[in-house]
Amino acid sequence: MRVYRRGGKKSVAIVGAGPGGLAAAMLLAQRGFRVQVFEKQDVIGGRNAEVRLGEYRFDLGPTFLMMKFLLDELFAEGGRKSTDYLQFKKLDPMYALAFPDKTMLARSHPEQMKAEIDRHFPGEGANLERFLKRESLRFQKLYPCLQKPYGTVASLISPTLLAAVPHIAAGRSLYSVLGDYFRSDELRLAFTFQSKYLGMSPWDCPGLFTMIPYTEHAHGVYHVMGGLARISHAFAQISREEGAEIHTSSSVARVLLDGRRAVGVQLASGEKIPSDDVIINADFGHAMATLFPASDLGRYKPSRLRKRKFSCSTFMMYLGLDRTYDAEHHMIVFARDYKRNIEAITRGQDGSEDMSLYIRNSCANDAYCAPAGHSALYILVPVANNSSGIEWGERKHALREHVMRTLRDRTPYGDVSAHIQRELIVTPQDWEQKYSVFLGATFNMAHSWNQMLYMRPHNQFEQFSNCYLVGGGTHPGSGLPTIFESARISANLLCQKYQIPHPANKPLEVVPA
Ligand SMILES: Cc1cc2nc3c(=O)[nH]c(=O)nc-3n(C[C@H](O)[C@H](O)[C@H](O)COP(=O)(O)OP(=O)(O)OC[C@H]3O[C@@H](n4cnc5c(N)ncnc54)[C@H](O)[C@@H]3O)c2cc1C
Repeated sequence: MRVYRRGGKKSVAIVGAGPGGLAAAMLLAQRGFRVQVFEKQDVIGGRNAEVRLGEYRFDLGPTFLMMKFLLDELFAEGGRKSTDYLQFKKLDPMYALAFPDKTMLARSHPEQMKAEIDRHFPGEGANLERFLKRESLRFQKLYPCLQKPYGTVASLISPTLLAAVPHIAAGRSLYSVLGDYFRSDELRLAFTFQSKYLGMSPWDCPGLFTMIPYTEHAHGVYHVMGGLARISHAFAQISREEGAEIHTSSSVARVLLDGRRAVGVQLASGEKIPSDDVIINADFGHAMATLFPASDLGRYKPSRLRKRKFSCSTFMMYLGLDRTYDAEHHMIVFARDYKRNIEAITRGQDGSEDMSLYIRNSCANDAYCAPAGHSALYILVPVANNSSGIEWGERKHALREHVMRTLRDRTPYGDVSAHIQRELIVTPQDWEQKYSVFLGATFNMAHSWNQMLYMRPHNQFEQFSNCYLVGGGTHPGSGLPTIFESARISANLLCQKYQIPHPANKPLEVVPA
């Protein structure tokens, strides 16, 4: 294993210790850069942090780990094994899908998945094979396009991207593409609800994102024992092993500029930290609203940014309960009229009368999350982001009651109210005010055609030299695997600037259909 350590001690200041910032810190520290990370919260992890309520433990945000092989690759670059730092569990069933009249299990093995489809949707099982076969080709053509930067218009005519053009399903939505495989509306939803990982509707989400259901079924969905927050902690541990410094409770007040060149950061304490380069991991919209003078930001000044399309938000409930439940690790409950529910959220309206929700019962596989005989339930309700003007101080009580009713009427959990020992609610306003997420749009700027690749904020930030972006707000986009890719792309760009060697990406893992 070749290990790259020739940074020549260039210094990098990273704003934010979310998974994007910490992945970049790990890669750059391994490659010999002098790295300092500044995190405003008193804990690391950002949206990937751990929430503790007494003896109950939850992930604040990400709970599904997909494309684990990418994580393995990042560890391998430094001569390490991911399994020396993290314990993974491949989930089977991957998740339960609760429709109004049936609950289908998404099995991780194609033969079992086919049987499950046939059990609920007779005659449709064979369509899974077609889906896996054709989507495997799309994935192989398209995913490499997401691993490259798009800093110039010319980058849009790269051979990799041109070879992918016939596979981009131009002008088609995810829901429409799934119609090529499955007749039943519910089955199409089983393979398109994943657009919610991007905070989008299956009817708006570009068709090329069949990559997400494809990778779930081809490569699996993983849990990290102890919670996915451990991923950020593992990155931080390795960064420190490689000499990086990570400062918590250290809010960056602004990026220091010399003309249009970033030259360091100034902390809220007033201290100035000069550096050769600056990497921004803070939520993109939040960073634009706080770290630079608006007059320097051109198309990214906050008043113009607000006119762009942002993802939905999430209403979160973290419940510590004094009993266990015989329920799957992940469960998605579809609104009776899912399309209407999603369209209401997209329009900024309240879709909660007939809501969809996601429940994570981590204790099904992981004893760490609660004391023996207890459970830690994580409930996520997709809701409109803060451009809706919804006043959550009042609204949250009513929504909590809707969630309780949905749990009672539509899930194996029934009436949980008498079992609640601990409870935390996070509203879209909390995402914005406590977690520094612009508009509370938890999955960043929407992944619509006109906000991807060259049209998304560039990894080498186009407004300033020596300034790079990592995380869900830049290319390739929101979601842990793409966030890891953003860190690798920006780290590679920095290395290329200083002519420091870095490893090439490994060819994609191809799973036969
Ligand atoms: C509820 C929810 C569920 C999700 N589920 C999944 C999932 O199952 N699977 C998946 O792959 N993805 C999921 N995601 C998406 C994505 O993986 C996470 O949002 C991820 O944590 C985003 O990482 P990031 O590095 O872009 O930013 P963040 O995690 O937001 O990190 C940015 C950091 O910057 C810090 N910061 C901001 N401003 C400053 C400043 N001025 N000075 C210093 N620090 C600052 C913040 O405090 C924060 O720690 C989910 C997201 C949410 C919100």
